[in-house]
Amino acid sequence: MTTIEAVQGDITRERVDAIVNAANSSLLGGGGVDGAIHRRGGPAILEDCRKLRASHYGKGLATGRAVATTAGNLDARWVIHTVGPVYSTTEDRSGLLASCYRESLRVADELGARTVAFPAVSAGVYGWPIEDAARIAVQTVRDTETAVEEVRFVLFDERAFTAFAEQVDKPGRPG
Ligand code: ADP
Repeated sequence: MTTIEAVQGDITRERVDAIVNAANSSLLGGGGVDGAIHRRGGPAILEDCRKLRASHYGKGLATGRAVATTAGNLDARWVIHTVGPVYSTTEDRSGLLASCYRESLRVADELGARTVAFPAVSAGVYGWPIEDAARIAVQTVRDTETAVEEVRFVLFDERAFTAFAEQVDKPGRPG
């Protein structure tokens, strides 16, 4: 059983095995939570990202995929970078958003991570409505088989925290 919780705060302050980053496909840093992680984690994370780009992801990391690097100076062992989809009103991209959570947990399992902190992937610059982002995030984690013991959603602002807390407090689907 995976314990799921939602807290309000800055994900870069979390003490967990792995912190998930809402990265962009370049892996070379951006704004929002990505910028915050690189700022606090220091240059070692970007260095690892550059190496990964050169060795595996010359065209960038595809949307819905996830990959791990060192966590630099963060209080974690790894950062798992995942690329969320840009929200669209004309196309249903929720499968890609679900894939971010599933793939991040798969990478966490490969690493042997037992505690993982997630931000609200795609719910910032990528424009995903927070209630829907929270529903997909929590449902996907509930539906994913993983050895991760604790998933903590770390939400920056109160509105995001409320949306995630509501989903976490809802009883899961039976079966
Ligand atoms: P995306 O491009 O995937 O939308 P963003 O970084 O713009 O990614 O936003 C994703 C979510 O992360 C937003 O809800 C934003 O408020 C939140 N966020 C930004 N900084 C932090 C932080 N330091 N800790 C946790 N969440 C953060």
